[in-house]
Amino acid sequence: MLEPSDPTYGFPFTPYKQQQQLMDHLYRAMASGEVTVIESPTGTGKSLSLISSSLSFLRDAKAHERHNLVASIRAAVADNESFKDEPEWVIEHEIKTKLAELDRQEKELEERLEGIRQKERVERAKAAAENARTMARKRQKMTDDERQEQADEQFAPAPYYEDDEAGAKEVVAYVDDAEDNLSPAVRALMASISGKSKSRSEQEEEPDVRKIYFASRTHSQLSQFVAELRKTPFAGETSAKPPGLPTPPSSSPEAESPSRPIRLIPLGSRQNLCINDDVRKKSGGSNEAMGDLCVELQKSGKERCPYLPPLDEPSKLNDFRDKALASVHDIEVIEDLGRNTHTCPYYGSRKAVRTAEVVTLPYNMLMQKTAREALGISLKDHIVIIDEAHNLIDSILSLHSVSISTRQLLAIRQALLTYIQKFRSRFTGLNASYLKRLALLLKGLTEFAEQWAKGAKKEEMVQVSRLFEAGGAGALDQINMRKLDEYLTKSKIARKIGGYSDSLAEQKTAQGRQAVRADATRALHQIQQFILSLAHADRDGRVLLTKETKRGADSTSDKVEVVMKYLLLAPSESFRDVAEEASSVILAGGTMAPMSDFREQLFPYLPKERFSTFSCGHVVPADHVSTYAVSKGPTGVTFSFTYERRGDEKLLDELGQAIVNIAAIVPKGMVVFVPSYDFLNQAQTRWQKSGMIKRLAAKKEPFWEPKASADVDAVLREYAVGNAGSGKGSILFAVVGAKLSEGINFADDMARCVVVCGIPYPNSQSAELKERMHYLKTSAPPGRPSGSPDPGQVLYQNLAFRVVNQSIGRAIRNARDWASIVLLDERYTQPSKKAQLPAWLDSGVQSPPTFGALVQDLARFNRKMRAAVS
Ligand code: SF4
Repeated sequence: MLEPSDPTYGFPFTPYKQQQQLMDHLYRAMASGEVTVIESPTGTGKSLSLISSSLSFLRDAKAHERHNLVASIRAAVADNESFKDEPEWVIEHEIKTKLAELDRQEKELEERLEGIRQKERVERAKAAAENARTMARKRQKMTDDERQEQADEQFAPAPYYEDDEAGAKEVVAYVDDAEDNLSPAVRALMASISGKSKSRSEQEEEPDVRKIYFASRTHSQLSQFVAELRKTPFAGETSAKPPGLPTPPSSSPEAESPSRPIRLIPLGSRQNLCINDDVRKKSGGSNEAMGDLCVELQKSGKERCPYLPPLDEPSKLNDFRDKALASVHDIEVIEDLGRNTHTCPYYGSRKAVRTAEVVTLPYNMLMQKTAREALGISLKDHIVIIDEAHNLIDSILSLHSVSISTRQLLAIRQALLTYIQKFRSRFTGLNASYLKRLALLLKGLTEFAEQWAKGAKKEEMVQVSRLFEAGGAGALDQINMRKLDEYLTKSKIARKIGGYSDSLAEQKTAQGRQAVRADATRALHQIQQFILSLAHADRDGRVLLTKETKRGADSTSDKVEVVMKYLLLAPSESFRDVAEEASSVILAGGTMAPMSDFREQLFPYLPKERFSTFSCGHVVPADHVSTYAVSKGPTGVTFSFTYERRGDEKLLDELGQAIVNIAAIVPKGMVVFVPSYDFLNQAQTRWQKSGMIKRLAAKKEPFWEPKASADVDAVLREYAVGNAGSGKGSILFAVVGAKLSEGINFADDMARCVVVCGIPYPNSQSAELKERMHYLKTSAPPGRPSGSPDPGQVLYQNLAFRVVNQSIGRAIRNARDWASIVLLDERYTQPSKKAQLPAWLDSGVQSPPTFGALVQDLARFNRKMRAAVS
């Protein structure tokens, strides 16, 4: 097995024990081709550890491959009869010639990149000098207010991102497989971008070098990754030499600049990278519409996008690629580069993938095979690292789920019939036949839904096959869904029908084109995705039918609408090709516990020697965290926040008193997580009425998580202000699993105590959850030891504890931080529940016998920590 050439992996500081262990584990997992799940709490330097170890491995592996190559060339030359009687120097010369041949492409590329880097260095030095002069002028002018503003910056909340900021479903336009209407020149260009061209010279020009695909949820997180990478020697911006590249004599064929920057390219959607302002404006910001408009501009006879170079100017796209790879850039710089060079950064960045050593991308672009194919990326023999992977399973399930309503079905069918009528004479036989089948399918699905709506049930989970048996009086099972799906994908007919429908609507209503167009196009894309899901539905898919009452078009009556939602129940098959193609897969996150989900749901088929987990302790000393599971309140009322007892006023009063008592001891910030918005409202109303709020406000200024995302920043800002200075501090009530339990940094005085009230189990009556639990129970792989827990129940428990653990993770954010964690519910005292908590809490969860004992211990802990800090 490959051994690290540098035991500290080029880590830019002296690594903590936990960081060293993480890097050792990761390196070993990559060397043995494992799928591994890594938990490393925030503040432990997870990103730097992942970067240092994985890039060390990449360079070590490359050096190792090269070493083997030299040995095999040496052996081949030695075995060659014609060199038998030649002197040593002739043999050496022959070896060097052969290696130089192999190195030619890499060397040429590196020489070009080095030329660009030289220029960039000169420009950066000039800009820095100018900047220093400007800053000096500004400093002289800085007012007292500005100085205060700068000092206040430390209290500003860390960036807050919505869950779906970049995780939203993205339908990538399949430009490179569109065979209709693209000019031969554009098709050839697309082929060259995706590396699908059969041209030998192009393949030679762009070898698909071994690389790391680094995925995270949002572009902001990917930009942070790039910023961390810049701190390491791999970015070539420090004087330190990265590991893995022994410096050979310059005459050696193996010579390579040891400090050259790693070649990195960030990928994004057109939403991130399209620089055609006209397309951006017309699309109304919709990625799908942007894709349609972009492809439209690539058709024969149309005025082409001015940023996409024609085939007879390949050097422009190549120049872009070289500039993008010369230094380590994030996606914003890539977009700027496109604007400065007048070259499309969306296609330019794709052009750079084959020669890049690190590709960063949001993980929704990596998880769907169709999206990867559209981007022209293959994971074969590359390393895949997915960071912030704690929600990966949910993301895969949601990415493969799609809804369609009866209203949309009727509208699409109407649009289709109008389209058929208009273009009937232009159809080839096959077109007409498939469109007829599509119309039949839409009719059948509508009839099925309308028939179901007559029944008494408000929601029902059905097998996909039931839609085909009943819909269209049984005619649907005659339709070959896979063929229909293939037709829709290849012909792009949905776009054409949508476009025509939009244009008619525009003429009729004279409304803005954007809104109308996006609506029709989205509905068409949705039905296409729905058909795609049905076409590939196997035992892992179901359809959830629900009734929704909507106000009719006349605004006087209500109409019942049926929504059909295709649900993927198990993510493992959708993710299987990633695990099988990649040489190793790493799922990393700050809070990955409970880890059993990843094994049970994502990788049940992997042999045990190919799967591993790693959880590192926190970098803070164990006595910086004090954790309590509390079963009774101050007057002895049992804390049991089950769903049935949540409205219990006696329990709410007890909770209020407990929080007041804790707030009296804890200095500065305190965050209380409750199970739901309903609970938050109930507690707030009750405490207003009982006067508890006033008692609480005497200890800390209270804040409440707002329902609207737009208000979150303002609340956090005020909460932070209350924790600055020498005041009593603030208390923030938030909902577990909602906007503040993930991604928010409650470091140091922002949270000296985190309270979690109750266990937020999901609604066990949800048809969706019931079906998932049933599916897991009935599809567990054979050979499970008898007495193993029911996987459905394991899922139910894990869903609750995953969000609890995320909330707990807000408390400790850096190596000097300290905080107490108080879990209010008698169920937390059970050993089986304690075992679900993050591993870094170790066995340090105490269960004080009374609330008084908790208060005493908390007071002792806070006194000790305050004394230690002062
Ligand atoms: S070629 Fe690039 S810049 Fe032009 S429309 Fe397409 S994505 Fe936008």
